[in-house]
Amino acid sequence: MAERQKLAAGNWKMNGTSAELAEVAALAETHANAGCEILLCPPATLVERLAQKADGTAIAVGGQDCHWEESGAHTGDVSAGMLKDAGASFVILGHSERRADHGETDEVVRNKTKAAWAAGLTAIVCVGETLSEREASNTIDIIKGQLAGSLPTQATGLNLVVAYEPVWAIGTGKVPTTDQISEVHGVIRAQLEKRFGPGVGRSVRLLYGGSVKPGNAAEIFAVENVDGALVGGASLKAADFGGIIEAL
Ligand code: PEP
Repeated sequence: MAERQKLAAGNWKMNGTSAELAEVAALAETHANAGCEILLCPPATLVERLAQKADGTAIAVGGQDCHWEESGAHTGDVSAGMLKDAGASFVILGHSERRADHGETDEVVRNKTKAAWAAGLTAIVCVGETLSEREASNTIDIIKGQLAGSLPTQATGLNLVVAYEPVWAIGTGKVPTTDQISEVHGVIRAQLEKRFGPGVGRSVRLLYGGSVKPGNAAEIFAVENVDGALVGGASLKAADFGGIIEAL
């Protein structure tokens, strides 16, 4: 099996206007020879312009969500095909903020993942426990349930990336211990191998997400089965995201 390529993925969330695009060219130039794949997921309004800026550079572009249908009467939504048309090659699905703010269930995430694959996008499917679920020792059951419910059967190492994002670590400055990350990533790897077979299971990249910063990135990236990071807040500043890229 080929080695899994490391991935540094930035999730801008509902941040960014055209003014922020100026930093993208500099980021691409500074990290042109980075040892990892670099992905930026801006709000839908910027996907096309960011893709134009990043064209010909080492930076790939992704959406933060898509609808499960190709087109139709879904006011305010964006389809996977539209993201692809705008220049995206990835889409984040099932982020805990979408699960919480928009009531997205595992079934919804699974249908969106199918739509992403049909459009030729790589889906970054997010899973993660809340603080109360961790404190009740339910983390592993929650993760297994989210994986089983959110992933369609046709997964490959190319069309799927799984991001482990403990909800309590997102935007809080709190980070699990490396043992806690290792435990969950080991479970995710084992579940993927069991369900999709060892070849596919070992080739899917697993990202850690939740308060990753330049100062803690190297320690997190040294954990087995951590193939990179999904980065929120620290992806908004090129210097911080650059520090994370260089730690990979
Ligand atoms: C995220 O929301 O995907 C995330 C990881 O956020 P932050 O890095 O800000 O914790």
